[in-house]
Amino acid sequence: MNNQGFTTTILHGDRRRGTEFGATHAPIHPSVAFGYETANDLVRVFQGDAPGYVYGRQHNPTVTALEAKVTAMEDGTATVCFATGMAAIAAMLWALLKRGDHVVVSSFVFGNTNSLFTTLSELGCDVTFVDATAAANVEAALRPETRMVFVETIANPRTQIADLEGIGRLCTPRNIVYVVDNTMTSPALFRPRTVGAGLVINALTKYIGGHGNALGGAITATGLYDWAKYPHIHASYKKGDSRTWGLTPIRKKGLRDAGGTLAANAAHAIAVGAETLVLRMERTCSNALAVARFLAAHPKVGKVHHPGLPGHAQHARAARLFKGYGGLFAFELAAGVGCFELLDALKVVILSSNLGDTRTLALPAAHTIFFEMGAERRASMGIADSLIRVSIGIEDEADLIEDFAQALEACKSPGKT
Ligand SMILES: *Cc1c(COP(=O)(O)O)cnc(C)c1O
Repeated sequence: MNNQGFTTTILHGDRRRGTEFGATHAPIHPSVAFGYETANDLVRVFQGDAPGYVYGRQHNPTVTALEAKVTAMEDGTATVCFATGMAAIAAMLWALLKRGDHVVVSSFVFGNTNSLFTTLSELGCDVTFVDATAAANVEAALRPETRMVFVETIANPRTQIADLEGIGRLCTPRNIVYVVDNTMTSPALFRPRTVGAGLVINALTKYIGGHGNALGGAITATGLYDWAKYPHIHASYKKGDSRTWGLTPIRKKGLRDAGGTLAANAAHAIAVGAETLVLRMERTCSNALAVARFLAAHPKVGKVHHPGLPGHAQHARAARLFKGYGGLFAFELAAGVGCFELLDALKVVILSSNLGDTRTLALPAAHTIFFEMGAERRASMGIADSLIRVSIGIEDEADLIEDFAQALEACKSPGKT
């Protein structure tokens, strides 16, 4: 790793690793198969004794180039990419856990991740969901067979912030794998390595790719976890430095056996998007804070859940840990103001379920992404029926504020009394 800045490193990464003709981008390799001159050459690559490519389900040179970029972004030791963020998380659970293991998960994780952990519990792993904004809740849930603690940085949609440092201090001495899903902050705002995470998840679909035009996911090893202390690493994967062993089963079982492979074209689109991650994040964060402040002062708006507002329960933690407060926040309307009415009146903002796009997107959270889990679970996650989730893009700030202003104006309800 060189000591240049984040963006310089990403921009010059492909060239420095070596490209044909001095090309500034790694090429898109469509090839599924890779041929060798001799049987011995093929066998050496197959057995992991020589570098090279065998079959596109496990490795592809365009994806390798993206993996190197994500590793650099997270200041990690290695990365495995997947077709989606969910494929990455599923592969990690599939590769590292066995029946009887116990996992502690934040109650405020992404809806589909919540569903995946619920499935895991039906397959024979014990899963305890806890309010991870206080490390004491995680500590109280730990057991001798706890293998993993899984949290996100900023929760979607209510923006609760996990006690990232406190949980790291619990996991490290107990040899528990600490997994942080960094999607909402992205490595431009936060590096989970700094709080002791062993594995970092990024849904590349969101801020890293950034343009809503490619799905992808990644798991990065930070090098902090010593896999010699992990009970389920197969003997044949124990090659070289024990701090790198964990990604081998993730690649073998997650890609080779489960097949959630990232396509080369998507890897290229994500790599191009990643070049402007820091620029987009700066604009996204400042737009989001401006819109949140505008809404918080509006008489037709109730609560605004944005970590940059001083009233947010973990505002100080967010200010200390992150370079910005992110682009996602949620708000509730004042009693009597209809959330569908407001959404229908928006003209710039798109009604859509994605997040981390260059365009601003909004949706009624309880009726869409959190509908399936039911009213009781929604209540425990603090998701009110009128909650609107907003993922801010990089539009001009004045246009976003004007759009929310005119939409609130169009709502016939009188507002707060
Ligand atoms: C979107 C998201 C995922 C899943 O990513 P996909 O690429 O959509 O599968 C995982 N975690 C978080 C925090 C997300 O926002």
